[in-house]
This record gives sequence, C-alpha cells and structure tokens, in this order.
Amino acid sequence: MTVLVIAEHDNGVLKKATLNTLGAAFKLSSDVHVLLAGKGVDAVATQIANIAGVTKVLVADGDALAHDLAENLSRQVLQIADAYTHIVFAGTTSGKNTAPRVAAKCDVAQISEITAVIDSDTFERPIYAGSAIATVKSLDKQKVITVRTTAFEAVPATGGSAGIEAIPVVADSGLSTFVGREIVKSERPELTNAAVIVSGGRALGSAENFQLLEKLADKLGAAVGASRAAVDAGYAPNDLQVGQTGKVVAPQLYIAVGISGAIQHLAGIKDAKVIVAINKDADAPIFGVADYGLVADLFTAVPELTEAL
Ligand code: FAD
Repeated sequence: MTVLVIAEHDNGVLKKATLNTLGAAFKLSSDVHVLLAGKGVDAVATQIANIAGVTKVLVADGDALAHDLAENLSRQVLQIADAYTHIVFAGTTSGKNTAPRVAAKCDVAQISEITAVIDSDTFERPIYAGSAIATVKSLDKQKVITVRTTAFEAVPATGGSAGIEAIPVVADSGLSTFVGREIVKSERPELTNAAVIVSGGRALGSAENFQLLEKLADKLGAAVGASRAAVDAGYAPNDLQVGQTGKVVAPQLYIAVGISGAIQHLAGIKDAKVIVAINKDADAPIFGVADYGLVADLFTAVPELTEAL
C-alpha cells in the first residue's frame, strides 16, 4: 500500500499544511511518496526529502506547473495515480480545487476533510458544520482524500533522506491561464498558522473600531480574525473570516470579542486549545465553549486588557 501526498508550496518554500497532511498519510502507510509539482522547485525538493519518513520525492518541474493551476496539477497527479492506493491532499483552497478533478477522473468518490484515520478504508470527518462526526468507509479501489490539517500533528521537517526522482511534466491543459496574483502583505502571522488569534464580531460596529483588536493583537503577536457578520458588514476583509465558510483555525489561544458563538463560527475554532470570550451578554452561546469568559462591554474591556498587557 503506497500513499501519494501532493505537496503545497510557493516554488521556494514548502507549506506547513503538507507536514500535517503527511501526519495523516503516515497513519495509512509507512510507504509515503510526495509529488512536488511546480517550477524551479529544487529547494523545495530538498526540504521534502529531509522530512522524516518520506520514502520518495517525485518532482515535476515545468512551465505548466508554475502557478498551481488545478487543471494542470490534476493532470500531473493522474499521470502517476495508478501506482497509488491513496492520493492525499491538504484540505486547503488548492487541495479542494484539485482533488475533486482527480477523484472524478479516477471514477471514485472523494473523501473530504478527514479528521481521523480508522483504517485504510475508514475515516472520520465532520458533518453539519462540525456538530457531528461521520465515520465513512469507502470500498473504492483507490481513495482520493482531503485532510483537515488542523486535526493532524505536523510531522518533523527533518531527519529524513528520501530519494528525489524527476518525472515528465504534463502538457499545459489550455483550459486556464495564469493572469496574476494579488498577495495581501501582512506583518501578522497567517490565520491558519497563528498561535494566538484575536477575533472580532458584529459588535465592533465599524472598520475603525476593529483597530481596537489590532492593538490587542500587536501586544500578543497575534493574527486578527473576524466573524462572518463582521466581514459582511465591511468591518474586516473577507480573508479574515473564521468559521464554516471561512478559515478553520487551531491556535493555542483564541480570543473572541463581541462574537455570539453561532454554530457556523464555532465550526472554525473547534481545535483551538484555549478559548477566551468577551461579550456583554452573559447568555451568549460563546460562553458555552469558552474556557474563560468575561461578561463586559468590549469597548471598556479590550482597551483595559491591551493597557494591562
Ligand atoms: P452576532 O450574532 O450579532 O453577535 C454579536 C455579539 O456581540 C452578541 O453576542 C452580543 O451580545 C455581543 N455584543 C454586542 N455589543 C457588545 C459590546 N459592546 N461588548 C461586548 N459584546 C457585545 N459565521 C461566521 O462567523 N463564520 C462563518 O464561516 C459562517 N458561515 C456561515 C455559513 C452559513 C451557511 C450560514 C447560514 C451562516 C454562517 N455564518 C458564519 C453566520 C453565523 O450564523 C452568524 O450569523 C455569525 O457568526 C454572527 O456573527 P457575530 O457573532 O459577529 O454577530
């Protein structure tokens, strides 16, 4: 049983999501290969070869793969798919874009966002916005899987010595063209990797008031997140949204400020280690999941907390 993991990277650095995805893959088999598809990826190949336990790094390095276009990446995966019992992607934007194309072409059902591996056919995955965990068993000959990365420990990035093998690069599909990439530059940690997150809700009332959270986040070296109500109201940009239709986060500390704790928000913070809630309504559902709760007006409590820190 050989497992193929699809690496996520920016052509220069391997993304941490791949280490978590490998955490899931090693629960399936000790024979795990990694496909590295990109352009000018020698440095990334070395990073992957150094990961403890990886047995082989397959490198497809060419123009068609320079920009992570799902149409081309899925073709590249399909070129080698037959050799593998399990093809495993991180449950990221990129993984979710490519995995279904691979599953459809392999004529198998995709197994989405697994949070545990029971055996080689059986997995756990959240349903109903994380309110229930389904145990799913697939009898397909091949499994195409996406992994909820926050549910699996990252494997150590060092200690390995896998062989690196170049493989032929597929031709451009001609179905999509890379136009450009607008990357938000921020001094703050990325939400999905942050150890501390300060998140704000509708109660902030305006984009200006959101700066209260920025000041608190500065003191804590934290990322800033937001509820969907805050995003929809224009108080915070879309990429800060945490929850079922936003980002799933797993920080050591999550501070929810003026957030009621709707089930769709909680779906994104289930793996947070310590949750602190500040809300003026003592009956707000967020207090049902919070480890520490402060019933207070945020416009008093947040500046006081920032000052005290
Ligand atoms: P509210 O529910 O309005 O809560 C505001 C809270 O602030 C209240 O508890 C109030 O007591 C408190 N408050 C008010 N003033 C103060 C003050 N001065 N000081 C302290 N506390 C104060 N939501 C998400 O967040 N993420 C998602 O990904 C998401 N996906 C969704 C997907 C679907 C299909 C649907 C239907 C909904 C989704 N939602 C999501 C929306 C979700 O249902 C809630 O509407 C949303 O989370 C509410 O945001 P909120 O807590 O900021 O606002």
